[in-house]
Amino acid sequence: MRVPFLDLKAQYASIKDEVLPAILAVLDNTAYVLGKPVSEFEAAFGKEHGVQFCYGVSSGTDGNHMVLWALGLGPGDEVIIPANTFIATAWGATLCGATPVFVDCDPESYNIDPRKVEAKITPKTKAIVAVHLYGQPADMDPLNEIARKHNIALVEDCAQSHLAEYKGKRTGGLSRASSFSFYPGKNLGAYGEGGAVATNDPELARKFKMIRDHGAEKKYYHEMFGHNYRMEGIQGAVLGVKLRHLGAWTEARRRNAALYAKHLQGIPNVTPPKEMPYAKHVYHLYVIRVTKRDALQKHLEEKGIATGLHYPVPLHVQKAFAHLRYKEGDFPVTERAAKEILSLPMYPELTEEQITYVCDTIREFVS
Ligand SMILES: *Cc1c(COP(=O)(O)O)cnc(C)c1O
Repeated sequence: MRVPFLDLKAQYASIKDEVLPAILAVLDNTAYVLGKPVSEFEAAFGKEHGVQFCYGVSSGTDGNHMVLWALGLGPGDEVIIPANTFIATAWGATLCGATPVFVDCDPESYNIDPRKVEAKITPKTKAIVAVHLYGQPADMDPLNEIARKHNIALVEDCAQSHLAEYKGKRTGGLSRASSFSFYPGKNLGAYGEGGAVATNDPELARKFKMIRDHGAEKKYYHEMFGHNYRMEGIQGAVLGVKLRHLGAWTEARRRNAALYAKHLQGIPNVTPPKEMPYAKHVYHLYVIRVTKRDALQKHLEEKGIATGLHYPVPLHVQKAFAHLRYKEGDFPVTERAAKEILSLPMYPELTEEQITYVCDTIREFVS
């Protein structure tokens, strides 16, 4: 049996009849950039996430940049960022000329460890970026408390957490501002690049709108520096169609996670992901922990099962950040996780037969 890591074709086949007319309508109306399909998607997506202002942008990375840019971050400022995340989280700070300051993760959730944040705060700290990694919300209450106490901004990177909930509230509206990614492999994926920024703060919202479009609210009247971070019309149309299915797809991911947990039970040295008591996890990734990870990954590959590593190299030891002078040993929880984590295939269309095959293959290898 072959189990791909991701199966975008299966999803496309299931919505082809809905999505093709939506794309054709964009072409017929020549609404290639922004336009009605984008603004309709923005309204629906913001509503789903309980956040007042939402803007479609060109990617999650650009969204990360816009959030800190709109907050006024610049050279000399420090931004607290988990060491355990995709590097695009840190580009938000570096593109503003600010300095990322890394923090270790919690051993159970793999998200930023709020107990380790305060020690990293200096007079230069201007923001904390919480990432809801793998689809599980970070522990936002203690982070919000720290941010309030030190008068710094807390923001969210929701690239992996569409529809995820923290204490019954959706991510994206749990802080000053947030960014989402619609990269094709994300839980809600465009047919190309895409992202969104969201906030409940009208002043930040105004800045988002301007930064996205050359720093102008009114065309050719530029109030501030900006960029071209606009969303394409076709992506807005595709996302609008797909958003209607996202609830069902998310439940299918959760069902698949439950099946994995059931079939992985009792396998020695294999730790399934833990859904924290405050979280509704949306399983963008299903990340287990296992000793002899590399050998298991190779074995699974030989048996036709594709897996991934999210992420093999923590940010503080990436070459790109060598100038920040971190070293191996600075963040032991993240470093240990990087050697033991393994992402199993996860998508809504995965079948129980495939999940059983993956788990049986793991059991056979470990025993
Ligand atoms: C995917 C991802 C991003 C970047 O999103 P793009 O749309 O690919 O630019 C940022 N942060 C995290 C945590 C991600 O997983």
